[in-house]
Parts: sequence; structure tokens; C-alpha cells
Amino acid sequence: MNAIERLMRAGDRHQPVRGGEVWLVGAGPGDAELLTLKALRVIRQAEVVVFDRLVSPAVMALLPPEALRIDVGKSMGCHTLSQREIDQLLVELAQAGNRVVRLKGGDPFIFGRGGEEMAQLQRHGVVCHVVPGITAASGCAAASGIPLTHRDYAQSVRFVTGHGRNGEADLDWRGLVTAGQTLVFYMGLTRSETLAAQLIRHGMAAQTPLAIIERGTLPQQRVLIGTLSALPALIAHQRPVSPSLLVIGEVVSLYRAASIIAAQPEAALPA
Ligand code: SAH
Repeated sequence: MNAIERLMRAGDRHQPVRGGEVWLVGAGPGDAELLTLKALRVIRQAEVVVFDRLVSPAVMALLPPEALRIDVGKSMGCHTLSQREIDQLLVELAQAGNRVVRLKGGDPFIFGRGGEEMAQLQRHGVVCHVVPGITAASGCAAASGIPLTHRDYAQSVRFVTGHGRNGEADLDWRGLVTAGQTLVFYMGLTRSETLAAQLIRHGMAAQTPLAIIERGTLPQQRVLIGTLSALPALIAHQRPVSPSLLVIGEVVSLYRAASIIAAQPEAALPA
């Protein structure tokens, strides 16, 4: 037995995946190798997997072939199931005795509504386990060679949603414009023009560097570099698609295209 098999066996003994319980599992930003070993162990034993749009095909390929897959994916403005229906579905699947995995992109508790799902399960007396995942901000930034808190540039980092409960996010713009702070906007693409205008209005330099990381950690990853005032033009010309993440702050100046090659060694090696 190799070391990984030993780890997984130990996990099975200490935290068995039981029927009638739900595992809220973070699938990470896309690259299947960024799953945790615990996530892998748990999804390998799933009987029913309830997943959303952000879970990559490479991660889906690791599910047991016989597992029932339920797509509750949401693309903006077009919800397959409402959140309330998803909560209800998880409760019913667990109460029917299934080993249920709720697979979510990134980390279940970062802008993923995992907290709401856990609360509903608990309210119905269903045992809920949570497996953390690498959230898009840290996964995408690291994989593109942007250190979110390089100490010469940033002493803090904020993860911000560009999308509030009812669409427009009501943000504390003044608090966001702080020296030595990196901002990472999730779901910020469609509102990027407002985001840039508000940050500039509240005192952020128009020349502040920013990056759009499109499909981070996936084979199609693209990193677009610009400045705050040029954000609308960057989007108009490059037309990034979802999912994309916006990183704003001086740390972006550390980005070098070559670091992508370092992060994906196969791209640098001759065939
Ligand atoms: N729970 C997830 C976030 C869900 S919100 C997490 O922890 O990562 C969805 C937003 O996450 C997307 O609109 C996008 O801004 C960001 N995102 C998720 N995966 C991404 C990826 N591979 N590349 C770029 N952005 C990503």
C-alpha cells in the first residue's frame, strides 16, 4: 500500500462516508489535481452527486461511473433549480439513506452558498460534513504567478463579491480603497465598469494594475493585464468569458507571463 492509499484508509476509519449524511465538498478552481485527498476519497464513495456549473469536467471524470449525477448548475440569470429547491433536494436525498456529495467549485464557504445549505441540512437534522477546497482567488492567482500578499506590496487581501443578494452589490467602497491591500472580485465581470468607476471615485489610482484571470487553473487559462481606468476597454477588446476573476492591486505588477510556464511545466517541455 502506498502512502496515499494509507492516508485514504485512515480517513475512511476516522470519518467514514455514511448513507443518510451529506458531504459538502470543495472541488477547487478547476484543475483536478488541486482537489484535496479528502475530497477525492469522499467523491469516490458517492452514491449521489449534486453539482454545479463551476465543477470542471476533469473533476467530474473522477466520480464513480455508477453515481447518480444531478446538475443544479446555475449560469447567471438562469437558475436550473432555486436555492430553496437545492436545499430541499439535499435533505430528501439524505433522508432516503444515500451517501450524498454536494460538489461545489472552489471552497464551499466562499461565495458558494454552502453556508445556507449546511444550515438547512442542520435544521432538518441531517448530518453535514464540510471538505474545504482551494478557492478561486488563491488558486487562480497562485497558478498565474501573482502573489496576493507579497509583503513589499500588500499587507492584506480582500475577497469581494461583485454580485449582491439581489444583483447589485452594495459595497463599502471607501473601505475597499486602502493602501497595501489587494482586492479580488468574484463574479465581477458583468459589473466591472461600475466597479472600476466606484473605486476611482473613492480614491484608488486610475493606474492601479489589475488582472483578469479567465478559467484559472484550467488548460484554457488566460491572464489579461491592464489598469483600473482601462478595465472597460480591456474587457471590450479581449472579451473574457466566465468564470473570470478580477485581481486589483500593486501585486499584479509582479505578474510575468513566464511564470505561467513555470506553473504548468508541460507547456515548457519540448514534446
Ligand atoms: N465557491 C467558489 C466561488 C463561487 S462564485 C470558490 O471558492 O472559488 C463564482 C465566481 O468564482 C466566478 O464568477 C468567478 O469570479 C470565480 N471563479 C471560480 N472558478 C474560477 C476559475 N477557474 N477561474 C476564474 N474565476 C473563477
